Amino acid sequence: MRLTRYFLPVLKENPSEAQIVSHRLMLRAGMIKQASAGIYSWLPLGFKVLRKLENIVHQEQARAGHIAIQMPVMQSADLWRESGRYDDYGQEMLRMKDRHDRDLLFTPTAEELVTDIFRGHVSSYKDLPLTLYQIQWKFRDEIRPRFGVMRGREFLMKDGYNFDLTKEDALHAYNRHLVSYLRTYERMGLQAIPMRADSGPIGGDDTHEFLVLAETGESEVFYDSAVTDIRMGERDIDYDDKAQCQAVMEEFTTLYARTDETHDAALFDQVPEERRRVARGIEVGQIFYFGTKYSEPMGATVQGPDGKPVPVHMGSHGIGVSRLIGAIIEASHDENGIIWPEGVTPFHCGIVNLKQGDEAADGACETIYKALTAIGLEPLYDDRKERAGGKFATMDLIGLPWRITVGPRGLKNGVVELTSRRTGESVEMTPEDAVKKIAEIYAPHHGGAAQHVEPMANRSFHTWI
Ligand code: ATP
Ligand code: MG
Repeated sequence: MRLTRYFLPVLKENPSEAQIVSHRLMLRAGMIKQASAGIYSWLPLGFKVLRKLENIVHQEQARAGHIAIQMPVMQSADLWRESGRYDDYGQEMLRMKDRHDRDLLFTPTAEELVTDIFRGHVSSYKDLPLTLYQIQWKFRDEIRPRFGVMRGREFLMKDGYNFDLTKEDALHAYNRHLVSYLRTYERMGLQAIPMRADSGPIGGDDTHEFLVLAETGESEVFYDSAVTDIRMGERDIDYDDKAQCQAVMEEFTTLYARTDETHDAALFDQVPEERRRVARGIEVGQIFYFGTKYSEPMGATVQGPDGKPVPVHMGSHGIGVSRLIGAIIEASHDENGIIWPEGVTPFHCGIVNLKQGDEAADGACETIYKALTAIGLEPLYDDRKERAGGKFATMDLIGLPWRITVGPRGLKNGVVELTSRRTGESVEMTPEDAVKKIAEIYAPHHGGAAQHVEPMANRSFHTWI
């Protein structure tokens, strides 16, 4: 993309309405624009990151054997009356009437709808296990929308629902989700710690929330610092292997890690004192097992092996896709702007032309731009007639992990500069080597943060549905 043809409405001033850094940077980098309280338009840069996150979610769900669907945002109240939640849900649910005076609502979550799909089409235990998920906009009329996309009223959520014959199978689905979520967050460059939580209006016994540690987080958390040393990394996971998924679940959830809702001071005291941490976290996901809470009242049964109808065991599992963008920025920025992890960056690298209009500089930028594009990467070429300082400031603000700086002086010696946004380190090299280096960084199975990024992340997310 050439910046002169792009739409990147960056702000010079700090927007006064933003209280936390991620909100401020998202507004300044021209990623979002508030439409009304807690409701945002996604501008090109923000939309690109959102799509990248969706893509990672789809890929990891596919790996776990979960199947994508798309359910409507408008739901009939009737289904919610069947489950008994229409009255229970409270004011967070936005309710409305259609022209025939029928009660409708804007989906805050979709257990009822997916249970209705299931009961309409599945009748035998032989069709289990089944996990359906979607990535869809949700609306919750939050009493205090704030912090930009972190606590919006309209927000993008991945919500998945498992249907299983037995509790044991459903707990395997729970573990599968836990494992796939850990991979998902790590690919986004985040550490999200599973913490024992409270189930709230979804209901159920087993539930973990995934929290990204950040001072601006809304949840108070208590944990054993040793949990922060555990990583999924590149292990081979067989999602059908119950014992393996169970082992990962235990590995990640045995050490003390709880939100304030389930915090147990006596248990916490048993953690060695030097490892006890009280901090704040951002909830970026939650998994639940709730058994037959919906299948029973809604008649979602299958014929079991003995021919008798049994209500299916279910769970639901959510990832806060739009909130994650805020969480990533909270975890990865400096005083100059955002620092995108390679796995989610909106453009793979920036190209800064120090002297637009200079024949050599323009030519070298074109060559680099075309070479990167030809191998399937997306560079953002700042081809504006601007001062170098302004171009650097924009690149730093929007946080592309790598920048290639091209100027007439360097070109006289046959070199350009490759700069890491994270460390600020610059290395001079030939334009060809700069292209090669960027290609390597994003190549599949290259070590470190870029692993798995290509070529999959380059494919349209539609590929995974
Ligand atoms: P919270 O406690 O933050 O209100 P929740 O527990 O009610 O969230 P869930 O029902 O678990 O939310 O939804 C799944 C995920 O959706 C959450 O983990 C969170 O990341 C995201 N999410 C929930 N509410 C919002 C919101 N108002 N704005 C943005 N993301 C949200
Ligand atoms: Mg939750």
